[in-house]
Amino acid sequence: MAVERAAGIQHLAPAFGRNVHGDLVLAGGVSPELYEMAFASSVTAMAVVDVAGTVLEVNAAFCDLVGHRRSVLVGAFGSRVLETDDGEPALADPERFVLARRVVRWRRGDGAVVVAEVAASRLGPGGNARTSYVLCARDVASEDELVAQLTYQAFHDPLTGLANRVLFEDRLDHALARAARAGGGCGAVLLLDLDDFKGVNDTLGHHVGDELLVALAGRLRDATRASDTLCRFGGDEFLLLVEDLDGPREVDQIAARLMGSFTLPFEVGSTSVIQHASLGIVPWESGGEDPASLFARADTAMYEAKRLGKGRHVVFDPDVHERAVQRFELAQDLRGALAAGELSMHFQPLVKLATGRVEGFEALMRWSHPTRGAVAPDVFISIAEESDLIFELGAFALRDATRRAMTWTVLGGERAPYVSVNLSTRQLYDPNLVRIVEDALTRSGLPPSRLVLEVTESAALGDLEASNHTMQRLVQLGIRIAVDDFGIGYSSLSYLSLIYPKVIKIDRSLVRGCDDDPDRATLLEGVVSLGHSLGAVVVAEGIETPEQLGSLRLIGCDVGQGYLFSPAVPAADVVTTVRRIEGGSSPRAGGEPGAPCTPAGYVAPVGSDRRGGVHGGH
Ligand code: C2E
Ligand code: MG
Ligand code: MG
Repeated sequence: MAVERAAGIQHLAPAFGRNVHGDLVLAGGVSPELYEMAFASSVTAMAVVDVAGTVLEVNAAFCDLVGHRRSVLVGAFGSRVLETDDGEPALADPERFVLARRVVRWRRGDGAVVVAEVAASRLGPGGNARTSYVLCARDVASEDELVAQLTYQAFHDPLTGLANRVLFEDRLDHALARAARAGGGCGAVLLLDLDDFKGVNDTLGHHVGDELLVALAGRLRDATRASDTLCRFGGDEFLLLVEDLDGPREVDQIAARLMGSFTLPFEVGSTSVIQHASLGIVPWESGGEDPASLFARADTAMYEAKRLGKGRHVVFDPDVHERAVQRFELAQDLRGALAAGELSMHFQPLVKLATGRVEGFEALMRWSHPTRGAVAPDVFISIAEESDLIFELGAFALRDATRRAMTWTVLGGERAPYVSVNLSTRQLYDPNLVRIVEDALTRSGLPPSRLVLEVTESAALGDLEASNHTMQRLVQLGIRIAVDDFGIGYSSLSYLSLIYPKVIKIDRSLVRGCDDDPDRATLLEGVVSLGHSLGAVVVAEGIETPEQLGSLRLIGCDVGQGYLFSPAVPAADVVTTVRRIEGGSSPRAGGEPGAPCTPAGYVAPVGSDRRGGVHGGH
């Protein structure tokens, strides 16, 4: 609308004041023209009306607000033109706007409704027929929208549209307070963390990662009730608050529904992605709970789910808490363990089944904790893997094992036993690994042909290209690669065809029962011939009885390892262990092919290796 020049300045002047004689006073020498201009060009919609609501003057902003031209509004007719949305005169009784700001709904010239907040100032004393009013109005509908939008943004995740942590915390406070007031109530907090989501971002790009999060949020929404609060807590973490549960058992059903969201692959970008997640659950009953400890427990349970192999849910209980505390304390202690000389390498013989000769030793790390005693490697290695500590421990294992193996030349010069060192998957992705291995070989003087590196199949689940490249470089050095714990991973055959290991170590869970279960024996026989067809030496882990040994030899397995021969022994006992296993005498160099192993030569596992205490066992 064109700005029309406001003419009735005489109606406005009193706003600037009158002196005791009633004369017009303009403050600071402001001219009426300037004043008029300020009125005319103000962005605030203003109208001057008399007691009856007749419009005396309006500015352009007012015309814009109500959608009428000034010429239509000003004059007796104008007060009838402007109506509320239910047909009442809009400006009648201006005194009411003096008393309080009011939100009104006016019908605009174009028929639309404008929601405005109106305030008025009186020009002159009230109740006087000559009194006029300046009404100021502003459109609050669009402000309301803005406020609503800002409020929404403050409480929601922009990517997925789910609640954000501020809203979640508020709802949780509310839920707990409600339960406390009601003297009871049962609910749960569920924390879901995507497994290895970084891989999606790194390999497919952040756009695809975002797409996946949006698709996932949709599935999670479908899997939850409208009354539950579903929140994106951070990057790849989601939280769910459920209230009014019938009982703690319902939690399992909810977990199953949530985890069901991950069954089908996600079609994102131009590819299909299989994504899993770990879920930690904290049920709460009645009031008295505090949000911070609920979060902490959900976190603990979620980490326990990760630790147990991901893609699963764990419901928090005191045992979970106790384990987490222990792991935390162990993690602290492990930091200083190496420097304190509490870590050492022990060596378990690898025996050629056909001859009974000790071919090599697997180097197994031991931690003698000052107060807890022996801590199982399964426990402390996995703790180390959660931080960069694994690199320090891994380098120590390589250095110490190669150094010790160098001393075994007394057992046969060139034909001295080799040493087999375990590599953590994380080491395999460490760009420094090859250098560290070379360094260990150089320092010790051990020929690469006497070093075997054991990798597990889980390495195949990561970045194959990077790990393959590393393995090729290790092979070029003349080192052999062994696949450890074969038969319990996911992708055994595809993995084998990628790395063509020189050694395959069959996991002891497959070896167990091979003597009295014909199916197991057949299976093992298949694995052995598969290994042979790949040109690999096949090692059976965990041989504990002469019967198992007997069937493994029949099956054609090459090498055995297990308590039947010996547990892992300290470095100082390696030579005597070899002599004992090999019959205490014979010159090693020959070792008669085909000669039976004398059971008398085998030693039962000694207490020193049987780790006791709370961390013992597998
Ligand atoms: P692994 O590499 O599969 O090692 C074989 C495990 O089987 C060893 O457990 C060994 O003591 C055990 N074992 C050997 N013979 C028998 C038997 O007859 N019966 C039974 N029940 N067990 C037997 P350990 O020493 O507790 O090590 C457990 C795991 O910890 C190892 O499994 C390996 O994955 C890891 N580990 C140990 N030392 C190191 C290390 O220096 N670096 C890395 N990255 N991992 C290590
Ligand atoms: Mg091993
Ligand atoms: Mg193994």
